[in-house]
Amino acid sequence: MTTRSDRRGIAPPAVPFTRPDIGDDEIAAVVRVLRSGWLTTGPVVKEFEAQFATAVGSRYAVAVNSGTAALHLALEAGGVSAGDEVIIPTFTFAATGEVVRYLGARPVLVDVQREDLTIDVDAVIAACNSKTKAVIGVDMGGQPCDWGRLRDLSTRRNLFLVDDAAHALPSSSDGRMTGGYADMMAFSFYATKPITTAEGGMLTTDNEGWAARAELMSLHGISRGAWRRYSHEGTWRYEILAPGFKYNMTDIAAALGIVQLRRSSAMRERRAAIAATYTAELARLGCLEPPSTAANRTTSWHLYMIRLNLDSLTLSRDEFIDELKKRGIGASVHFIPLHLHPFYRDAYGYQPSDFPVAYHEFERVVSLPLYSTMSDEDVARVVDAVTEICGEHGK
Ligand SMILES: *Cc1c(COP(=O)(O)O)cnc(C)c1O
Repeated sequence: MTTRSDRRGIAPPAVPFTRPDIGDDEIAAVVRVLRSGWLTTGPVVKEFEAQFATAVGSRYAVAVNSGTAALHLALEAGGVSAGDEVIIPTFTFAATGEVVRYLGARPVLVDVQREDLTIDVDAVIAACNSKTKAVIGVDMGGQPCDWGRLRDLSTRRNLFLVDDAAHALPSSSDGRMTGGYADMMAFSFYATKPITTAEGGMLTTDNEGWAARAELMSLHGISRGAWRRYSHEGTWRYEILAPGFKYNMTDIAAALGIVQLRRSSAMRERRAAIAATYTAELARLGCLEPPSTAANRTTSWHLYMIRLNLDSLTLSRDEFIDELKKRGIGASVHFIPLHLHPFYRDAYGYQPSDFPVAYHEFERVVSLPLYSTMSDEDVARVVDAVTEICGEHGK
């Protein structure tokens, strides 16, 4: 019999960029749902929503089938419509911008702060005008935005404030759960995110009206409790109250989510310990800057984003990632700023230099592997590879 390692020689296994942390409890929970006779939105989703609301300190939680759906429903509930402008950071994933377009509104991009790559609040203020309806902050890699200032601004200008918390579970600013400042927050449970349901998302808010609207629109605009219509308590009769969407979460996904939520603090602790090791080992290398967290904020440690000091290296960021790959280490880049993509360039005429911080930092940012299933040996391999590359390619 030939094993994989025989074929590859004696090289130790590669450290992938990310790997979900799925244990026997998750598997058992999914199997229980599969045997229950009820697969899609039902009692397990309701239970997940209740537990999630408690965990993040929100009054209401609405489970959906992606973080993108959660963002879309948040803006819809907030009344964003055609002709409105929504201010978002250019340094984010595709989803943050496309949901603005779903509603016929205009995504207005702004730059980010150099220190933590979150939205620059001064730039938000400069971009506000009479058409501005909402602002979306993104907790980049789990680092909270300056939510205190964003909240003040939004209250003063009557703007709807949304937290793209896809990376943020769990994190805090000034002792408060990150999105406690926003009108609505949108979480993602995509396979690479801090907790996963394979695909999934959650909307949270303290406002009953917005929660009810999001729940209604998440399932065809059919009146609340529609999922019951196939159960013995349900009835076949329903009413369409608005032209909604098909965004409901399955009980299979929710079963995974309940177990992952229970483990979220423990998984974060492991990531924080790995991040502490990285910073202790990498901070002394002159070739890079480790991530920093602002005072009074805690990060979820979803991502460990280093910034290369390109002046002290003979290679580019892309070549640095290639060198990691040669050593069996996965890496990624978060994110290619929206304004550098063809759609945003062509639709809105953005130039690379329009957002100098995002442009400059994008050229030198690298996300290293950071997930709870990494072994100490995996962590040491990453540190050794980065140290070696800096040594071999330093100026
Ligand atoms: C992953 C992600 C989303 C979207 O989440 P999905 O669950 O994949 O739809 C939104 N915003 C950011 C910043 C993300 O990283």
